[in-house]
Amino acid sequence: MSIAALNKVEMKPKEYKSDVSVVWCPGCGHHGILNGIYRALSELGIDPDNMMSISGIGCSSRTPYFIKSYKMHTLHGRAGPVATGAQLAQPDQCVMVTGGDGDGFSIGGGHMPHMARKNVNLTYVLFDNGIYGLTKGQYSPTSRPEMTAYTTPYGGPDEPMNPLLYMLTYGATYVAQGFAGKPKICAELIKGALEHKGFSYVNIFSQCPSFNKIDTVQYYRDLVAEIPEDHDPGDFGSAMEIARGLSEGKAPMGLLYQTSKPTLDEKLAEIVTKVGGHKDYDLNKIVDLYRP
Ligand code: SF4
Ligand code: MG
Repeated sequence: MSIAALNKVEMKPKEYKSDVSVVWCPGCGHHGILNGIYRALSELGIDPDNMMSISGIGCSSRTPYFIKSYKMHTLHGRAGPVATGAQLAQPDQCVMVTGGDGDGFSIGGGHMPHMARKNVNLTYVLFDNGIYGLTKGQYSPTSRPEMTAYTTPYGGPDEPMNPLLYMLTYGATYVAQGFAGKPKICAELIKGALEHKGFSYVNIFSQCPSFNKIDTVQYYRDLVAEIPEDHDPGDFGSAMEIARGLSEGKAPMGLLYQTSKPTLDEKLAEIVTKVGGHKDYDLNKIVDLYRP
């Protein structure tokens, strides 16, 4: 179901802060993203009793602690499957995953395509700082080759992956990108993602001043550019072009793509209805559905 059907509450952004102190380093981009999340929740009037915030392991995976909601801090890379199960068990709730580039695309990389292709009705906000911060600075799937880290003191051998192309290719139905230094834009994109029915993915550049010394705030400021206003987010081909990069090597900021498709919980509910309910269904009836 869509969050439009949920009860609304009137809460200011700061009222979504939990009692847990935010422990991120001063200057960390994650502070900006968290503010964007608070603002999005407030603008949508989401009741904390209707919200599940789920994460794996990493600095950004601490986010659920800082939000008033139901929450689960799971295993490294496993936020996606846990969130998928939670969403299917409670399809009338708003489910959001927060995590980093290492947790999402390395340790949890096997889960990303499946959330996208199944169109699980949840929002995935990926805090992309091109490094593992919590474990004190290792090369991640979005690190640039010139970045030196403990694991790559002479720079890395690999090209960074492009999360936008990846998510579009696997069928995500909402794909956007922001930058932590622009919390209002982050809030808009997260708000759109939470409102979207289906798998919504928001990639947000976020500086890690403690361990990533090349992807600084200024680097990201110079890197990003807003997607041209005449872009139609319903145009998949155009979204793929934009995901490759804007002119002069700029990274796109804004909504690249949005479409509507049945969600996993809707498709499963349809099957359950066909076989006559949850409790006493007969496995043979399910098999019959797929018999040629
Ligand atoms: Fe942020 Fe990096 Fe500090 Fe982690 S280590 S809190 S990502 S600045
Ligand atoms: Mg990271």
